Amino acid sequence: MNFTDMPLNEALQKAIKAEGYSTPTPIQAEAIPSILQGSDIIGCAQTGTGKTAAFALPILELLGSEPVIDRQDKKDKGRKKPIRALILSPTRELAQQIGDSFSAYGRYTGLTNTVIYGGVAQSKQQQAMRNGVDILVATPGRLLDLMNQRIVSLSSVSIVVLDEADHMLDMGFIHDIRSIIDTLPAKRQSLLFSATMPQEIQRLANDLLHDAKRIAVDPVSSSAKPVEQLVYFVDRKKKIDLLLRLMDTLPMTSVLVFSRTKHGADRIAKDLGKEGVPCEVIHGDKTQTARQRALNRFKEKRSRVLVATDIAARGIDVEQLPYVVNYDLPDAAETYIHRIGRTGRAGLTGVAISFCSNDQQDVFRQIKRIAGKDAIKSMSVEEAFRRVPSFQGGEHQYPSQKKERPERPSFEPEKGLSRAGSAVQSILKGQGSKKQERSPDIERLLEKDYEPRNIQESIAARMKAEGVPKDIILRTTGINLDIFHKL
Ligand code: AMP
Repeated sequence: MNFTDMPLNEALQKAIKAEGYSTPTPIQAEAIPSILQGSDIIGCAQTGTGKTAAFALPILELLGSEPVIDRQDKKDKGRKKPIRALILSPTRELAQQIGDSFSAYGRYTGLTNTVIYGGVAQSKQQQAMRNGVDILVATPGRLLDLMNQRIVSLSSVSIVVLDEADHMLDMGFIHDIRSIIDTLPAKRQSLLFSATMPQEIQRLANDLLHDAKRIAVDPVSSSAKPVEQLVYFVDRKKKIDLLLRLMDTLPMTSVLVFSRTKHGADRIAKDLGKEGVPCEVIHGDKTQTARQRALNRFKEKRSRVLVATDIAARGIDVEQLPYVVNYDLPDAAETYIHRIGRTGRAGLTGVAISFCSNDQQDVFRQIKRIAGKDAIKSMSVEEAFRRVPSFQGGEHQYPSQKKERPERPSFEPEKGLSRAGSAVQSILKGQGSKKQERSPDIERLLEKDYEPRNIQESIAARMKAEGVPKDIILRTTGINLDIFHKL
């Protein structure tokens, strides 16, 4: 089936095309027709399956087919748009992402959306609600606050979505959710999505949904196929050296690194920073603005590494994320599956690398049970480095990079480029460290008119000069074919 075969209006078809989607993912193929027919849905699916579009597209279609309030029109003058669809999300990041998806898919429809969440001043969100919106995406706490202040009314909501319901349960939102749902009109369509289906979610679904259609894709016990999984058994103290070594030897252009604790996340970022690796951190102690800024910098590829704790990373969607590193294994085996689901999304291949220290052997055994017996290849650090041609061995098994690194060149970062981006660029231009000899390949590169504009393109240029196959370059750097030919 193709999107063009689905009864979605022209404005949506145009946006789907602009997003570059042609074939619906399995959950989209199942959910979209049912939602359009008015069914309630209980969907067992995690992020990465295309579930946002699975509910956003039919919601935009359904709302678009109802009469619209046009405030420019005389008869509607002064009338406020009522909220007609409500999406509840456990985290701010996921809420923001859902809002972005509605904006992207609905860009030609004239339908509006707003995202509200706690942890930031309420005034801007209040302002956005002033003229009314068609679709509201919200975290439960802030929504209840605004409802209690009579800033938000849900009396016209005809469709409600509970996204990542199991996570809302984990975060203690269940009472808030029930209070919010109680205020909705009884005649409504309800959709519930959850990666896992514990009993309490089943109960919630029984209470809230009517004759719901069940859809299950990509169950949490089997991680997405294209992800290659590796584990290194490594001493806790040696993890940072191992990470740096891997980053030097593998084409790790974008890496999401998971830490079990906030303190640990800060520590990793500090250690990477000391080695000159551009890096961002997000965890629960960071303000919302700092988290969003960090995420944006990572998504824009201005930082090579994003270090995150599990709660902060929930709902993060970064396209083209080739590597996930479990710097620490999570306490719960299921969290492992969620983590590695961040890479290898929408059919792209990805690599998930885990570091397992002696004290984490038990949880590793549980992870193996869930992920499948032979799904994770194990490797000793020694073996890994034997395979890396540049590794010289020596008295340390994995020497600290500090000793090996050439002195950092002194230069000012160019406008709009990260320090690393300008570093690579200046090396390409031959202004880097004096010790650096320019290879004939690099010389050839310099004769070209096109200058890499960011770190991705610089790395791609380097890889191309070194003869790395085109497919690998495109996949790991995310540059398009046009740029590839120019490099
Ligand atoms: P989600 O599971 O909603 O977080 O979506 C995961 C990723 O898949 C997002 O980056 C979407 O842009 C992408 N995606 C969703 N639907 C499709 C599709 N039909 N074809 C290709 N990519 C898609």
